[in-house]
Amino acid sequence: MSPPLLELTDLRVAYGRIEALRGVSLSLRVGERLALIGANGAGKTTLLKAVAGLLPVLDGRVQLQGADVTTQAAHRRLPQGMALVPEGRGIFADLTVHENLLMGAYCRDDDAIDSDLDSQYRRFPRLAERREQAAGTLSGGEQQMLAIGRALMGRPRLLLLDEPSMGLAPIMVERIFAVLREVCADGVTLLLVEQNARLAMQLCERTVVLEHGAVSLQGDSAELARDPRVMAAYLGQ
Ligand code: ATP
Repeated sequence: MSPPLLELTDLRVAYGRIEALRGVSLSLRVGERLALIGANGAGKTTLLKAVAGLLPVLDGRVQLQGADVTTQAAHRRLPQGMALVPEGRGIFADLTVHENLLMGAYCRDDDAIDSDLDSQYRRFPRLAERREQAAGTLSGGEQQMLAIGRALMGRPRLLLLDEPSMGLAPIMVERIFAVLREVCADGVTLLLVEQNARLAMQLCERTVVLEHGAVSLQGDSAELARDPRVMAAYLGQ
């Protein structure tokens, strides 16, 4: 059997004396969609950053398709098929939409970049209409689309997505999640951090709940959505 696309083993990350991840283990198979939910400060963003190589790991292991990447620099992980859409989107405000998308392909040198740009413009017609506009002038939802489109320009196998619905109107959130559904249908593996637990659990077949830097519950999303602890704490029921 092939190894999981992503495997975290006893991952520990700290900010000085604050232990943000206290021994987290989880794995993602190729093509799987995993929702990571939890209260503010539970360690969700820290986990995504540690997977992406943006934070040093105190202890434990990050493996990408069986290869140990725990100490590998972030910029070396992208060519191996990992892309992070950070909380707050991290777009380059002074660059145009087009230039932002091109930045997502910076580590590629193949012939398919132009056709991939066309695909992103088909996926996000609003970006096509605004391709020469400075990215900083886009609405929040358009910036989120751009951040996702830019990540996809790196042709990731594993997409790490931090709070894509944050601050967006419900209609925009619907659009973004519809696109994520399409992206996953194309075979991209998704690790999704999302405050909107209901939406995240609808999109992802499996859910992990983080509490105080540790996994408190995990399993099939449909089953967890009926768990009274999850319903009370994360689904507002
Ligand atoms: P949120 O939903 O609010 O983004 P989160 O689940 O993503 O929360 P993290 O941002 O990963 O949680 O934070 C985990 C813990 O680490 C919290 O106690 C937080 O205060 C702490 N923390 C996060 N970033 C830093 C930092 N740069 N310096 C010090 N402590 C930090």
